[in-house]
This record gives sequence, C-alpha cells and structure tokens, in this order.
Amino acid sequence: MILKSDELFHRTPGYLGWQDENWLACCDDYCQYLGRVGIDELNDLGIKDEVLQEYAKREDAYPLEEVEEYLYKDGDMSGYLFKCIHCNKYHLWVDAN
Ligand SMILES: [Zn+2]
Repeated sequence: MILKSDELFHRTPGYLGWQDENWLACCDDYCQYLGRVGIDELNDLGIKDEVLQEYAKREDAYPLEEVEEYLYKDGDMSGYLFKCIHCNKYHLWVDAN
C-alpha cells in the first residue's frame, strides 16, 4: 500500500506531534483528520457504534467498556476522528495518557 505522505501535511494544518504510524488510512490513502472527540461527540454525530465496532477490531485497541466510559474530547483518554475522503467512512483512533 502506497500512502501519499506529501499530501498529509496539506490536509492537516496545525496538527503537530502526530506519529505517522498512527495516522489512519482507508482506501489506500490517508484519511482526513477531523478533530478530537469523546463519546458525546460520537453520539451527536450518530456514528458511535459504527466507529467503536471498527476500532475494537484493532490489535492494540483499548477494551470497549473502558473507551465508552472514559473517552472524552479533552480527557486523559481522547478520540481522534478521521474520515475517508474516498468512501466517506469515519474511523476512530484512541489515545490515552
Ligand atoms: Zn475508505
């Protein structure tokens, strides 16, 4: 899979400190980064179950019970929401301090 690294920086103004290996990809391309989210934001968007189910399949995923309980936009456990620019699917990355 070839990722278009050069486009990454054009798509993500002001988002520093992100590690390339954590940047989500879909349809052979980098996803668009939308911002930090918690469970509340995912509920508002109506995509909570969809992105959590997909997230839970990752090898290094936190247990879903913990994510549902502790995921806050500005919390110690925070979600990073991405969207594929090709198939328009949402994807979630979770990071905890
Ligand atoms: Zn896609």
